[in-house]
Amino acid sequence: MDIIGSTIGPLVAKMINIYYEEIGDYDSLNDKILNLIFKDINLKKYNKILIKPNVLGPYPPDRCATTHPKFLEWIIKYLLNEGVDRNKIIVGDSSGYSTKKSFEVSKIKEVCRKYNINCKPFEKDKVVKVNILDTKVILPKTVLESDLIINLPKLKTHILMKYTGAIKNLYGCIPGGLKPKLHGQYPKEYNFAELLVELYKVIGRNREMITIMDGIYGMEGNGPSNGNSINSKIVIASKDALAVDIFASYYIKYNPMDIITNKILINNGNHKKRDIWQENYKIIKLEENVKREVNFKEIDRIKFKKPDTYYLTSIMPPSIVKLIFSVMVQKPQINRKKCKKCKVCQYICPVEAISIDNLKIDLKKCINCYCCHEMCEFGAIDLKRRFLI
Ligand code: SF4
Ligand code: SF4
Repeated sequence: MDIIGSTIGPLVAKMINIYYEEIGDYDSLNDKILNLIFKDINLKKYNKILIKPNVLGPYPPDRCATTHPKFLEWIIKYLLNEGVDRNKIIVGDSSGYSTKKSFEVSKIKEVCRKYNINCKPFEKDKVVKVNILDTKVILPKTVLESDLIINLPKLKTHILMKYTGAIKNLYGCIPGGLKPKLHGQYPKEYNFAELLVELYKVIGRNREMITIMDGIYGMEGNGPSNGNSINSKIVIASKDALAVDIFASYYIKYNPMDIITNKILINNGNHKKRDIWQENYKIIKLEENVKREVNFKEIDRIKFKKPDTYYLTSIMPPSIVKLIFSVMVQKPQINRKKCKKCKVCQYICPVEAISIDNLKIDLKKCINCYCCHEMCEFGAIDLKRRFLI
């Protein structure tokens, strides 16, 4: 049996299994991959199982910004069929704002209602203070009291982090308004990635975690909420969240080491160390009636359009990128035609740079965290390359 949550703590020199299956639509989900990932696990032994979907905001399932309700239903049905007591299962998350509405619009709540499962917005939960990178962070008791987390990330690109998957999905454990505030404290890609990694370690400590990624439909382009849906036809599962992120980012044609959370965890913070991301994994592909081991080169990858923020760093040599970034950066701008004046962006902006009364963003204050772009459900925040002011 491979180790559960093995990237938490020192990376053990042991092969970690990654299972994947090519599945084109949600009605074709079957239990093969679940039977493998839950093999050797007595699901009835857990006192509290937290299912953590990605409920980023009030987005309907066909927007592909949130874990699909049929994907969640598939997991819940499996647990119930395995004899897990429904009272021990909780579906929990916190959106950037109004999680209750997000649960409804994403249809996650509908599934929970159907199976009589507790559906918990984390901002309604009791909290515990923890120290992460010398910052006091609150975490819901439900997360810290769970003994198994089933992490259900969505396969998407991300304008700040390039990619969002298993490790980034855990950021949704932080209740409501604290998320944008932390973004303000850790605004850049690298230091935000450090925060995500530390959060992952804190959440993963003292409990088991299984990650099953919804990549049947993903999001490409300016994700995690304003990109385009793409039928990426894959389900990925592992007992190691990092393994899922390595595989998934490779699958959508990133170099996994471009994703900073991957890089920090693979090298255990040692940036001089050689990247050994291909060496620790045993990849098992599920086909019609067989499963077979494959290597990374045998995987049929699918190209996701990258976020507009990505190209400078990937195409140009580092010296030129540095020069360009010293004078130009993507800045948010309110699209007056699309804006509904809901003021969500004004509420979540960590540096109070947005005024919806006059539809302006103070670019001198803006720290380019792109939370406004991520949370605007109307796609009314455009990104424009501008000279740094
Ligand atoms: S830009 Fe979007 S989030 Fe901001 S007020 Fe307009 S519609 Fe709402
Ligand atoms: S204006 Fe948008 S990108 Fe700029 S700091 Fe505020 S939320 Fe972040």
